[in-house]
Amino acid sequence: MSFNNVAANNKIIACVSGDINGDFENKTHLKEYLDVLGKYNVKATFPTTLDVAENYTDRIKLILKNGHEIAGHGDNHKIFKGGSLQEQTERLRKMMAGFYDILGLQLKGFRAPWTKFDKNTHDALSNVGLKYDSNIKRLEIMFRLPYINKKNMDVRNYQHIKPFLKMAAQLYNVSQKTSKYPYYILPNLIEIPVLGYSDYYLISSPKGPKYTKFDNEKIGAVWLENLKCLRNSGGVMVIDAHPGFFSPDYLGALDYFIENALKIGATFKTLDSIASEYMEFDPTENSQVEIYTT
Ligand SMILES: [Zn+2]
Repeated sequence: MSFNNVAANNKIIACVSGDINGDFENKTHLKEYLDVLGKYNVKATFPTTLDVAENYTDRIKLILKNGHEIAGHGDNHKIFKGGSLQEQTERLRKMMAGFYDILGLQLKGFRAPWTKFDKNTHDALSNVGLKYDSNIKRLEIMFRLPYINKKNMDVRNYQHIKPFLKMAAQLYNVSQKTSKYPYYILPNLIEIPVLGYSDYYLISSPKGPKYTKFDNEKIGAVWLENLKCLRNSGGVMVIDAHPGFFSPDYLGALDYFIENALKIGATFKTLDSIASEYMEFDPTENSQVEIYTT
């Protein structure tokens, strides 16, 4: 088993993704979230469940009007993993038809509810003709070790242990079969991995650092630190920043991350445009796609 990195170029591509499901109530300050993106002219991707799009159609239209992408996040927020191929295919069909009916939207990609998927999920995505999946976790730095599980960026000797944390992350990525660039998981389906540290992990999880709204720069710094690991190799990093969870209290983290990511030369793209860019290339011949071989 090996990664055959065929001279991937040095581009650093970042993507802001914000899942929208049942927590997307009117208390979510969507406009303020979109304003942060607009300030830097960043286009983001919002994986959205069909039931929420039906209940909050005007808010989804506002997202589209601002030039962002809506991706699929299920017909509802129930777990796909464990469902038969037929069940999962039918749920995806229902989701796609629903988005087309209410918004005239042709979905291009998918993130599974709770990011829980299995082989049937990938086969179902391929069956319905979606072109990308963005579920598999990827880490550039492994923070989740016993001795740095709290306030992990504040550990005094962090700089000294960083090389080991990077090595641990690489081992994790090999075991998860992920790549820094999008890669094919089926002949017509590309995977765009998402950063292993979700907003939920950083803010709410009892296992995480439990950053509060006064720690916005620390959240932004965790994301940035992971992005900086791509500086020599290039690669794609997708962050998770749910509008229902993030706005308004944690928008400072998003602002901090985008501002500093741009400073180190990152380009922000939607998942759809990342998928299109990488699917244009034949992975067996072209140099821009990192190929996973067994
Ligand atoms: Zn979700």
